[in-house]
Amino acid sequence: MSKTRVLPFNIALMEAIKDMVFMVNVTDRSALKYEFFNRAVFERTHLAQQDIGKTFQETHAPAAAGILNGHYEKVLETEGEIIFEDTYVSPAGEHYYSETTLTPLFDETGMCSHVIGVVKDTTGERLAKMASEEAWERLKESRSRYRSLYENNADAIFSLDLKGRILAGNSTVEQLTSYPMNDLIGTDFSKYIPQKDCELLSMYIQLALSGTSNDFRTIFIGNSRQSIGILVHFAPIEVKNEIVGVYATLKDMRELDKVSSQYLESENRFRIIAENAHDVIVLMDHEGETIYVSPSSKRVYGLEPEEYLERPPFYNVYPEDIPQVRKAFSLAIQEAQTYILEARLQHKTRGWIWTEVQGIPIFDEQHQFVHMLTITQDITLHKERETQLQYDAYHDSLTGLPNRRFLKESILEKINHSSNKEDILTVFLLDIDHFKAINDQLGHDVGDAVIEEFGKRLLQSTGDGDVAARLGGDEFILLLPGIKTADQAEKMAQKIQVTMAQSWENQDVSLKVSASMGIALTPLAGADVSTILKNADIAMYESKEAGRGTYRIRML
Ligand code: GH3
Ligand code: MG
Repeated sequence: MSKTRVLPFNIALMEAIKDMVFMVNVTDRSALKYEFFNRAVFERTHLAQQDIGKTFQETHAPAAAGILNGHYEKVLETEGEIIFEDTYVSPAGEHYYSETTLTPLFDETGMCSHVIGVVKDTTGERLAKMASEEAWERLKESRSRYRSLYENNADAIFSLDLKGRILAGNSTVEQLTSYPMNDLIGTDFSKYIPQKDCELLSMYIQLALSGTSNDFRTIFIGNSRQSIGILVHFAPIEVKNEIVGVYATLKDMRELDKVSSQYLESENRFRIIAENAHDVIVLMDHEGETIYVSPSSKRVYGLEPEEYLERPPFYNVYPEDIPQVRKAFSLAIQEAQTYILEARLQHKTRGWIWTEVQGIPIFDEQHQFVHMLTITQDITLHKERETQLQYDAYHDSLTGLPNRRFLKESILEKINHSSNKEDILTVFLLDIDHFKAINDQLGHDVGDAVIEEFGKRLLQSTGDGDVAARLGGDEFILLLPGIKTADQAEKMAQKIQVTMAQSWENQDVSLKVSASMGIALTPLAGADVSTILKNADIAMYESKEAGRGTYRIRML
């Protein structure tokens, strides 16, 4: 490191940049003192104008001051630049990831007089990296899910090369065709299709190769020359954006062909069934008695079709859903219109499953109702995923408590739904004291366990209608609509202190954990979410400054 570097000290620039800039005077090695902060420092940390001229010990918790000292001493020792990563939570509760560069500055005599710290906010990159790791995980998962979809598919799936030769097939192929897989591999797919359909077949394969998926109704000639009615779906196989072959998915249509000849007059109606064959198809009379149920009843309801046929109308509908199912059923007949609804239906062993039911009333030429055709799809996984996503968006994964978003919406709801504008909303902001020291001395896992336990204890201290949320980092919020006076707030604060003073046995280390509390009693009239949180934040910092482990109340 050159010792003749000129001070690149441009205050205007430093004020403008988004990075935090600290300048520390190091002329007295035993008392390093802050000499300058740029605007970003004031915005994102608890440091203020009056901290200029003070040491780390005077401005930070002992553990944090110790760590900072360590970094600066390293710069002074090596007279070189150092870079380290850190995370911190701003007074507004935002969680930041940062990268800090400490650079020594030398005066004309070659003495190191200052160290400049530049703290780059790397939150965006970190989050992007985490998101891309997550996306990669999801991709791996979807690949393995795809594998099992392929292997366990009730339909026979062939992979064909560009010339229409069979390369591979899933296990259903052997069941459907009665050919051993090895006999099929290497042969032309067209060999098993009636001559008259071969021209169409090659056209559909060509279309699939040019990227268009298609369905094609034909016959597969099985091992003992039996004709198997099939619906073939062709889809291109893409590897790295290049089409290298075609998947041919064969749906066995024999059962449906039988039904269609038995019950359904027109080609059009038949197609409705054919296209939905992997879902459960049921034909009912005007009272809802089942006339026919497709074999997929086994897959979706865990019931053989014969078992299903014996059951009374709507036997498998969740009691609460029965009225809407019945109503849709009769309305469809009266008005000659189709319906779609979501309902919980019973699975023999899995209990209630979420389904989407599509009902189509069928009439003869004299416009007389013949039967109701329903097509039912299991949407349980989809529903679960939806619920999970909804849950994740509003909860913190470590503690399971509501998160910042949930909290903000709860406060907003209180503001919007308060009929009495004199009403007061009480918010407690809690920040664990010296939490960084727990992480640093005992490890991040113990830190996590403390956060979890802290959340549990808070939850235990609250009652009906209260909200305990994790804002991020070691910051928590309580929303206590029942508390209207400073006296009540104080009692609650003391109750929390007692709870937190109980022993913290964790992995054989005994810990002392306290929190600084900021309590804000804000009148709802004219209040907004950020004012309420800001009040609590100010009070919290007052209790930090008052020595931690205590509370401060702000009444507006
Ligand atoms: P103070 O008394 O002033 O609150 O000091 P502190 O050490 O608690 O400092 P501060 O509240 O600013 O720091 C909170 C630290 O919490 C920063 C970060 O390293 C750590 N942290 C944030 N989120 C998590 C987490 O999910 N798990 C763990 N183990 N640590 C976290
Ligand atoms: Mg803290």
